[in-house]
Order: sequence, then C-alpha cells, then structure tokens
Amino acid sequence: MSEDGRMVGGARRRDDRENIALRPKLLSDIVGQNVVRENLQILIDAAKNRSEPIDHVLFYGPPGLGKTSLAHVIANEMNVNIRITAGPSIERAGDLAAILTHLKQNDILFIDEVHRLGRAVEEVLYPAMEDFVLDIVIGKGPAAKNVRLNLPRFTVIGATTRLALLAAPLRDRFGAQFRLDFYDLQAMEHIIERAAGMLKIEIKPEGTTEIARRSRGTPRVALRLLRRVRDYAQVRAQGIITGPVSGEALALLNIDHLGLDDVDRRILALIIEKYGGGPVGLETIAAAMSEDASTIMDVCEPYLLQLGFLARTPRGRMATPSAYEHMGYTPPENNAGQPTLF
Ligand code: ADP
Repeated sequence: MSEDGRMVGGARRRDDRENIALRPKLLSDIVGQNVVRENLQILIDAAKNRSEPIDHVLFYGPPGLGKTSLAHVIANEMNVNIRITAGPSIERAGDLAAILTHLKQNDILFIDEVHRLGRAVEEVLYPAMEDFVLDIVIGKGPAAKNVRLNLPRFTVIGATTRLALLAAPLRDRFGAQFRLDFYDLQAMEHIIERAAGMLKIEIKPEGTTEIARRSRGTPRVALRLLRRVRDYAQVRAQGIITGPVSGEALALLNIDHLGLDDVDRRILALIIEKYGGGPVGLETIAAAMSEDASTIMDVCEPYLLQLGFLARTPRGRMATPSAYEHMGYTPPENNAGQPTLF
C-alpha cells in the first residue's frame, strides 16, 4: 500500500510500524465490524470442523480499517502459516508460481492490493485458486511443453481499497467477500483505550473521546494520533492525556474536530470557491491540488462522503450544504449544493 504523508490518511506510513504489536491476534480482539466478525467465526469453525482450509476471502474498504489485521487473525485462529505479499510486488507469472510452489497444506496467502495484479499473473492465479493446480510452460518455441503441477490446498485472502478495479473473474473466485466500514465512535474509543493500555499511556476518558472523534472512523489513524498526542502530553502535560490536552495537541496538527486536515479542507474550499460548489471532476480537483487522483479517491473522498460533505454525481463531485457550513460559508439559496442528476 502506498505511504502518504498525511496524519489522518488511512494509508500506511513508515511510523505506523509500532502498530504491529497492537495488531489484534484473535477474533475476540477485533473491536467493531460485528457482522464481519460473526461471519468469519462461522467460516473458521466450519472449516475447522471439516479439517479443511477456509474458502478464499476478500476484504475490501478504505485503507487502515483492518484488512491485514483480519488476515492475521484468521491465520492465528486456524493455526496456519500466513505468507504476505501485495499485487504490485508480484510482477511476473513466474513470481507467483514461485510463491505458490512454496505453500504448504492449509497455508494462507495474503495478497494486499489484489486489484493491482497483472493480467498474466491473474491467469496463473485462477486455476490455482479454483483447482489447486499450477500450469507452467517448460522450454521455448516448438519444444515448449505444458506441465500441470498439483498444489496443496491453500487459502487466498485478498485485500483491496478498490473493488471496482478487481477483474470480475478474480472477484468471483473469492467465496467469501466482506466490506469493511468506518468504525463508530464507541468502537474507536475502545480501540484507543486498548492501545493506550498496551502502550502504558495514561489517558482520561475525555482524552480518548477527543482522539476517537478526530480519527475518521479508522483504527490506523486513531493509533497514529494517539502516539502524537502522547508526545505532546509528555512534553507539555506531565504525560497525562486529558480532553483539553488531546484537543490542543490535535489542533496543533491542524486536525479539526471532525478529523479533517488541510488536504480535506482544501478540497472542499476548492469545490466551493472555484467551482461554485460543483459538480467538478475528480481529475480536475486532483490537478488543481497537485495531488494524485487515487489518493484523493482512496483516502479523502470516502470519509467526506461518509460525513455527507461531498456528493458523487454523474457529472462530478459536489459540496453539500453541510460542507459549506463546516467550512464557514453560507450554502447557496437554490440548493445548488445539493446533488442533482441532470
Ligand atoms: P488495512 O489492511 O485495512 O489497511 P490494518 O489491518 O493494517 O488495515 O490495520 C491498521 C491498524 O489498525 C493495525 O495495526 C491494527 O492494530 C489496528 N486495527 C485495525 N482494525 C482493528 C480492530 N478492529 N480492532 C483493533 N485494532 C484494529
């Protein structure tokens, strides 16, 4: 997954490494995502009963919501090995063949950014997922021979932030598919409390709530903000995170009370000031901000949509009246900020 520099971006950053220790180990450590958790429990129990590997699983949703963590949890619960890779790292069909031939019975192969696998690699993956075989060509030219190797039964767990970019035949090969949603405030508070406990950080309930509110329903963001607030508390407040200490620390990072940062605010300001509230195309927004369109689409948009600040219409993105209000503008009288189809 790409690393972006934003404090409130869901994408992985270098300083998130510390999170590994905080990663949930078992399904019971997973906070929130109740429907996904329950379904996974059934999948795991049934597979264990039959002494079989679980079906191939696909997790999709914005970055930082726990797709990788869930893959590890499944491996722990099934008591099997997990091999981690990512779409862009498997460049050639041969790279995938090498990975597949090293898998053992019941192993899990986790493929992050599974929508970024190349076509040739996908072609190798299809029969491997469906029939547990690997078709390889030995030699070149007229002497080339097709050889079929049997693979042990294994499980692919795929993760993607862009379900729409996943080739339909690949998507169909995942027997279980789960969409991860942003976490509610209570779940975020839970995750922060658990992490604070594990990192031995002294935090008051108001401090927890203050961080939870600004974490965009994303555990990775919550853990990152918790570490920054811990630093602030250590230097300025005897190490104790209270409500006001959290508020001051996060304000200093330019993160507002809803978790919006400068990038989000610039997007909204751009649509409102330059494009009369929209509609305006994503590419235009990205070009005007000198940002990558996919970063805006993966990281900023889902949360702005969730807040109801942005609306997607066939003609482009529009700022809603709540976005006008949040940004301190008066919404236009004629409902111009409302999405319309025509
Ligand atoms: P993704 O793969 O979706 O980008 P990760 O699985 O890497 O997200 O999760 C990011 C961090 O958030 C992890 O380090 C983990 O500690 C934490 N986390 C994610 N989901 C949960 C959860 N449901 N409960 C507790 N912690 C979580």
